[in-house]
Amino acid sequence: MKLKYLGTAAAEGIPALFCRCEMCAYARKAGGKEIRRRAGALLDGTLKLDFGPDSYWQMISENLDYTDIHAVLITHSHEDHLEPCDVTYRRPGFANKLDGDRPMTVYGNGKVMQVLEKYSVGPWQNKKQLQAFETVEIEGYQVTPLEAVHCLSWEPDARWPVVFENRAYLRGEEAFIYLIEKDGKKLLYAHDTDELTPADMDYLAGKKIDLISLDCTNGVIQAEYIGHMGAADNLRMREKLLACGAADAHTIFVANHFSHNGAAPMAELQKQLPGFIVAYDGMEIEF
Ligand SMILES: [Zn+2]
Ligand SMILES: [Zn+2]
Ligand SMILES: [Zn+2]
Repeated sequence: MKLKYLGTAAAEGIPALFCRCEMCAYARKAGGKEIRRRAGALLDGTLKLDFGPDSYWQMISENLDYTDIHAVLITHSHEDHLEPCDVTYRRPGFANKLDGDRPMTVYGNGKVMQVLEKYSVGPWQNKKQLQAFETVEIEGYQVTPLEAVHCLSWEPDARWPVVFENRAYLRGEEAFIYLIEKDGKKLLYAHDTDELTPADMDYLAGKKIDLISLDCTNGVIQAEYIGHMGAADNLRMREKLLACGAADAHTIFVANHFSHNGAAPMAELQKQLPGFIVAYDGMEIEF
């Protein structure tokens, strides 16, 4: 498998749209790997993970041809992960010479389906709802959505319980992380989420995953809220994944999805994340 990171920031990007914080000022000045687009990745050039507002910029900068992509896995409906309007530009009048081509299918949870419902769907584009812990075959990959500790909600319509630190919480939508397998290779793409639930850990135990990409939104700070991780959480998560055999000595760990509120320059992040590769836009890992 070859995983290419197309966007490695949280919702506002780095530098953020409207921000004078030190990290954003530094990123503007330093450029290069300190500039981070909104979330997204590409597996083997064929499976797109999330389709956020920077998908267009990702396409231009990384010289991609999205007409080659027939499957998009959406983790959850947050704006940095799903730009529903852009997805629909794969339709006649906006896209040409796709006659006879297979449709592109967008996979995700019920909320993602609801968001896409508002936009036209036709033979050029499908959508398909996935269920947590139910493996489906997509473009030759075995894809299993697992539960993310994310989108916690205290609204009356909140459902989808998840367990975090021995307590159950409800979520406003069924956010997913994904286990993706093909030809004996395994990728765990865990954005956005806090530390994984007991159900996830049970499912992943013994899997000896080849690459585990963990949410590191909070970077070098310790944040109190539930829904994302930082460097310290990533280190703890790594130990737990190694202890249950979800990972072993050969597993590549990547920290990804950084917010300007917790991010530090690359070198500092790397110092705080021993045993991890710190993701940057355009980074490609073959495993
Ligand atoms: Zn996000
Ligand atoms: Zn900032
Ligand atoms: Zn999110």
